[in-house]
Amino acid sequence: MKKLDDYNFENKKALIRVDFNVPLNENFEVTDINRIEAAKPTIIKILEDGGSAVLMSHLGRPKGERNPDLSLKHICATVSDVIGVAIKFVDDCVGEKAEKAVAELKSGEVLLLENLRYHAEEEKGDKAFAEQLSKLGDIYVNDAFGTAHRAHASTAIVAKYFTDAKCFGYLLAKEIKAIEKVMRTGEKPVLAILGGAKVSSKITIIENILDKVDDLIIGGGMTYTFVKAQGGQVGDSICEDDKMELAMEILKQAKEKGVNVHIPVDVIAADDFSNTANTKIVDVDKIPDGWQGLDAGPRTLENFKKVILGAKTILWNGPIGVFEMESFANGTISVGNAIDQATQNGAFSLVGGGDSVAAVKQFGFENKVSYVSTGGGAMLESLEGKTLPGIAAILAL
Ligand code: AMP
Repeated sequence: MKKLDDYNFENKKALIRVDFNVPLNENFEVTDINRIEAAKPTIIKILEDGGSAVLMSHLGRPKGERNPDLSLKHICATVSDVIGVAIKFVDDCVGEKAEKAVAELKSGEVLLLENLRYHAEEEKGDKAFAEQLSKLGDIYVNDAFGTAHRAHASTAIVAKYFTDAKCFGYLLAKEIKAIEKVMRTGEKPVLAILGGAKVSSKITIIENILDKVDDLIIGGGMTYTFVKAQGGQVGDSICEDDKMELAMEILKQAKEKGVNVHIPVDVIAADDFSNTANTKIVDVDKIPDGWQGLDAGPRTLENFKKVILGAKTILWNGPIGVFEMESFANGTISVGNAIDQATQNGAFSLVGGGDSVAAVKQFGFENKVSYVSTGGGAMLESLEGKTLPGIAAILAL
């Protein structure tokens, strides 16, 4: 399979699927340029080769309607600033207008197409629509990890029309490499830290990851289902009674596979789900009625730190406590600090999936871990062991 660097884009038009689904404020200004910056290296490589770039993306959920609030024209100025080239814009992503704009595009120029999801065919993965898109470039480059778990026209189906002229962009290639490091090629001991609210939303990840890791830290709201399943008293803590059997099964499987499971031994219990609640430190299996565990306790954090500092490859998904409330953020911050230290000592650390990325950003760990994934759902599905359609489409002959 060819990589981006194997292609010379001189006088070629690259059709690039980027993820420019960025947040806009009420004046339609971009409030977070991360995703645009993340796509920049791929675009620059193509321009420096002497090629031109045709960018396609979705923005929000217009559901097949031309919703002017969700027009990608709002982001043109920001994209021009970030890329350093005054980009052109065409107000459709297929058809005569788009084809004409592409035909007029010269080497070194960048064209942004209008929101793909103005056409319902995009999310349906419609073949005829994908074929129309395929007319807009000589080489297809997928650099949108955030949508790689969707079999949409622009993320997967379009690749079929570029049998010998398709590749991953740098960002997508980096995401794939980071996941592979955790799932297959990482130096041992490999540690997964799984937190978050519920066992039910993480169960497929846990099952898949048991074959890959040496240690598993369980934190956050998931803790209490495991503790109650083993006969502990969890008071009013979040707990999924219907998942207790599953929790026992996971512990059994972990034992059989030689995975060390680390569960909190003490917690910060609160008498209300509130930042100003009364709190006390209690053993995880002796939480009184009327109290709920909202963060990991000091002994637990000491244990977690030891495990983290001993790991060579670390995956972190899900907060350790209710980090949105200052009173219960300490567990998440302290695990972040330990990962920072382990990374400085040479470990590879990957943070990915939903709320853990928000937590990492909130507490400034973004540049202290080896890699922060840009794709929430795509990352979770990768950890569940699923093959992502956007990735499979590039790998297919
Ligand atoms: P998830 O999306 O599954 O990663 O869950 C993230 C959410 O879990 C965050 O909003 C946390 O506030 C929440 N969470 C973490 N620990 C607890 C806990 N002990 N009790 C209730 N919610 C928690």
